[in-house]
Amino acid sequence: MFIYDYLIVGSGLFGSVFAHEAKKLGKSVLVIERRDHIGGNIFCEEKEGINIHKYGPHIFHTSYHDVWDYVNQFVEFNGFVNAPIANYKGELYNLPFNMNTFSKLWGVITPAEAAAKIAEQRAVIKGEPKNLEEQAISLVGTDIYTKLIKGYTEKQWKRSCTELPSFIIKRLPVRYTFDNNYYNDLYQGIPIRGGYNKLIEALLDGIEVRMGVDYHLSRALYENMAKNIVYTGAIDAYFGYRLGQLEYRGLRFETERLEKENHQGVAVMNYTEREVPYTRIIEHKHFEFGTQPVTYVTKEYPADWKPGEEAYYPVNDARNQTLYRQYADMAAKEKNVIFGGRLAEYKYYDMDDIIKSALECVRKNVSL
Ligand code: UDP
Repeated sequence: MFIYDYLIVGSGLFGSVFAHEAKKLGKSVLVIERRDHIGGNIFCEEKEGINIHKYGPHIFHTSYHDVWDYVNQFVEFNGFVNAPIANYKGELYNLPFNMNTFSKLWGVITPAEAAAKIAEQRAVIKGEPKNLEEQAISLVGTDIYTKLIKGYTEKQWKRSCTELPSFIIKRLPVRYTFDNNYYNDLYQGIPIRGGYNKLIEALLDGIEVRMGVDYHLSRALYENMAKNIVYTGAIDAYFGYRLGQLEYRGLRFETERLEKENHQGVAVMNYTEREVPYTRIIEHKHFEFGTQPVTYVTKEYPADWKPGEEAYYPVNDARNQTLYRQYADMAAKEKNVIFGGRLAEYKYYDMDDIIKSALECVRKNVSL
């Protein structure tokens, strides 16, 4: 009576990896997708030879050998290394925080001088850091906190840094070397020839995908179609928001075509002052070393989020985490439904972690 072994709700990275692996194990799979394209937020739109990251910049980076080997079966990577620039009121600084940043900021020459400067500034924090502000100051001191962190973070999250959890800032490395690589990982890059779309297309090759299907609107039709469901949408939406809504931060993008070859000379420029309303400008061609005569740039504005809109960042504060735990307990009791990915696990996931978790999930749940 079931038509498929697996119904996969959502064609983002989690859903696509799961679908691919389940099919390889001989399972019949149907993927449904609410949007009119596959790939979730890693989807790119090609214009004049430039892949535009429609849902914010995605740079693949990982230290997991198995995940790196996994993605390289489908696409080749171009060696792009993310080295974003912070623009604070027209002053430019290298990110992540490293000797180039320290030297520009304070005129210091050696790592010891930089460390002494930071030690002097972090003395204002006594004991264990209790929030993002204290965590940031204890990592890099007050000057960097004020110029490069406070404004950016508060506009992105629309909360004071004293009310945000410190783990958000722990994503950023602090280095006493002249190394502008934003990530600490072993491997990094953007897929060559076709970008992320090619990765998703390869994962979903030979798999039936129905686009423009909203699971919540067509549940009666779909929920009995397969023995198992892999749900990658928002966990609170799955339960009809019964216990209340989980909060997200939204984003709004403004993309422009410019009649010039090179606008800002770097793929990502962060605007770290509070007064500039966007957090960053992306110049997409630089992700792929593009040489086209024109360029496309996107301003990324943080935005409030309402249910029904694209959800970007889970707001992992105490209230939301508690609510998520309650939904997760309900999810654990759902028979034959797997919840996976950023929205279903309410987690600020990087792409490699998503792939790793999808592969583990298949290993645990699907057998030949
Ligand atoms: N951040 C900052 N200044 C910057 C870049 C990042 O203060 O110029 C902080 C900010 O709090 C942000 C966090 O670091 O939310 C994580 O940044 P990341 O670049 O990892 O965010 P993503 O690329 O996932 O949006």
